[in-house]
Amino acid sequence: MIQLSNISHTYTSTTGPICALNGLNFYIQENEFVTFVGPSGCGKSTLLHIVAGFVRPTEGTVRIQEEPVLRPGRARMVFQADAVFPWLSAQQNIEYGLRHSGLSETDRRGRVTGALTAAGLTDFATKWPRELSGGMRKRLELARAYVSHPDIWLLDEPLASLDYFTREEMQVLVHNLWRSANSTVVCATHDLEEALFLSTQVVILTRRPGQIKEVVNVTFGSERTPKIKLSDEFVTLRRRLLTLIERQQSQ
Ligand code: ADP
Ligand code: MG
Repeated sequence: MIQLSNISHTYTSTTGPICALNGLNFYIQENEFVTFVGPSGCGKSTLLHIVAGFVRPTEGTVRIQEEPVLRPGRARMVFQADAVFPWLSAQQNIEYGLRHSGLSETDRRGRVTGALTAAGLTDFATKWPRELSGGMRKRLELARAYVSHPDIWLLDEPLASLDYFTREEMQVLVHNLWRSANSTVVCATHDLEEALFLSTQVVILTRRPGQIKEVVNVTFGSERTPKIKLSDEFVTLRRRLLTLIERQQSQ
């Protein structure tokens, strides 16, 4: 579905060029949940912005279903800082995502109700964003993306800034939304546990300039509850990821 071919990116800055990514080749299959993991500054956000079409790589091409990505629009970034408008209620914020959809009033209403339900926000439809807790705001950001049924979601450190328990709850929600939406997800995080819990594949990046160090296939079934974090399989995979990250730090 998403082909990354020889992606390199160098920023120009006042202190000289900064090479953020170097020669990434990877193919993301449809319906996979692929998470790029690596230390801060290794180019994860840059990569997502390239897939989104916000940044043109200095070298290489991204193709989505064979079509080169030349501008934004095909893949949907979730959790952009400006995604929720403070002057609209939760429900109006979700509706806003459908403004260009061309759907009939009835279909739009159905979609919004579906998104409110899927994100567990039914009782909060008329609340203002400022009245929502951090977790509820995350639900709203997710519902805003979900309502337009994007087939590709881009998640950049999606659950950073939440407390542990809310985060765990949101991990289950993200997982369930991904499954019910039949979408393909490209995610970036530095949280190994979260990467393992959510993903079907974890791609370990080296320090900057980011290069693919290893691809780890996550073999748990598709039913994921926080309990699996205690399983031998999870602990073993987590240890493997830690070793890969540690090894690169000691180089
Ligand atoms: P990550 O998301 O993995 O933390 P980023 O993709 O944000 O990494 O950044 C990779 C590197 O590129 C970092 O060293 C960062 O400082 C640099 N960088 C990111 N954006 C810019 C920019 N607009 N101009 C110059 N340097 C940038
Ligand atoms: Mg980042």
